[in-house]
Amino acid sequence: MTPRTIGVTEVALRDAHQSLMATRMAMEDMVDACADIDQAGFWSVECWGGATYDACIRFLNEDPWQRLRTFRELMPNSRLQMLLRGQNLLGYRHYEDGVVERFVEKSAENGMDVFRVFDALNDPRNMARAMQAVKKTGKHAQGTICYTISPLHTTEGYIKLAGQLLDMGAESIALKDMAALLQPQAAYDVVKGIKDTYGDVQVNVHCHSTTGVTLVSLMKAIEAGADVVDTAISSMSLGPGHNPTESLVAMLEGTEYTTDLDMDRLLRIRDHFAKVRPKYAQFESATLVDTDIFSSQIPGGMLSNMESQLKAQGAGDRIREVMAEVPLVKADAGHPPLVTPSSQIVGTQAVFNVLMGKYKVLTGEFADLMLGYYGECIGERNPEVVEVARAQTKKEPITQRPADLLEPEWDKLVAEATALPGNDGSDEDVLTYAMFPSVAPGFFENRADGPKNVGKTPEQMASQAAAKGDDDRAVKGPITYKVSLGGREHNVVVERA
Ligand code: MN
Repeated sequence: MTPRTIGVTEVALRDAHQSLMATRMAMEDMVDACADIDQAGFWSVECWGGATYDACIRFLNEDPWQRLRTFRELMPNSRLQMLLRGQNLLGYRHYEDGVVERFVEKSAENGMDVFRVFDALNDPRNMARAMQAVKKTGKHAQGTICYTISPLHTTEGYIKLAGQLLDMGAESIALKDMAALLQPQAAYDVVKGIKDTYGDVQVNVHCHSTTGVTLVSLMKAIEAGADVVDTAISSMSLGPGHNPTESLVAMLEGTEYTTDLDMDRLLRIRDHFAKVRPKYAQFESATLVDTDIFSSQIPGGMLSNMESQLKAQGAGDRIREVMAEVPLVKADAGHPPLVTPSSQIVGTQAVFNVLMGKYKVLTGEFADLMLGYYGECIGERNPEVVEVARAQTKKEPITQRPADLLEPEWDKLVAEATALPGNDGSDEDVLTYAMFPSVAPGFFENRADGPKNVGKTPEQMASQAAAKGDDDRAVKGPITYKVSLGGREHNVVVERA
């Protein structure tokens, strides 16, 4: 019998370094792996998303659009994939439909192929316009189910949501498990349910490895019919990251499934990242395995966020109280999955409840969540807390799609963005400003200084100190990346816009 080929999405260039090293990896440390990634046989290469975009302009002085164009140039044979927060795009608020359309158009034009569209609340209305926009460009629109566990979340509910995404024109369904909560049997049941109900729809499975159980979940998902699974090359895997790509290949040996990945290429990709990863040691999380997540439902990134908020208030010792508070706040909000931005909203309110008394003060975002301004959750919102939100904000609860309340805003964004020093007048710059209005001005102003690699080996730190006088000369002018393609060295020169 011919084995069934399982597609693989490699996440080293986006989610892996986001999960393992606070999204700090510089483009410079990725380019040399691109030729091998391009030729290894992946179904897609995930390389862009909200956190990488944010880190580019906040910490790395890199233009995220230039990063995308460079990936496009270096991986001409690959499907490039991004994670898109539906109506939030890559930002933290809802954008008016015209901005959503413009963003998707520009992303496609700059080289994006697969758009994994999700909404933190799993509200299909928040995904519809982005999906439509992707379909208009002719690119791949992937509808996403954010997986969580709660008294209200059921296999049947997830199957129904998959149907709603397919009705919107999703070309494939992603089961996205951002917190490593997807246990093997659940993975099997949800994937099997979707396949049995909707026939030959492509199902992609994304999970993290934090709880230690999810390589088995991938196996069960494959047995249930999953078509594509997400992994990270071994040297960029495990802990709060993902299951190792090479381990998936080995796991499927002797079964009726195969991956068709080129192991020689994988080993070269592995060696490349093994070499650069130590530069980012200062950003690495210490977590290896954490099974407490099954009860707390708190993803790793959210926990470290709350810890730093508490420390800033001199209350670092109250983290256990906050962890106990999170599921209560989540239940009051109608059981949203905890993923950006709902994880930050629920987490910060839990911190406020512990420090200032239960719902004595609501954050503006949590009040909006309780009043429906982020969309609908699976469960009812606690009416007493809705009342607190109404009283505090003087705003009324809503039931319509939140973006329906927004006026067209593109022209205003253009006017504001182009007035900023260093703005190049492109739609891409307007979008950068739209999504990160407080960070973009500083980035535009300093962009000409060129990329800043925040990863450092001890040797680099020493030699950098010695070569301090040369710094100015080194960062001006076009950026040159040394790339080896098909065994030959090439210099890829990237002009600054
Ligand atoms: Mn993830």
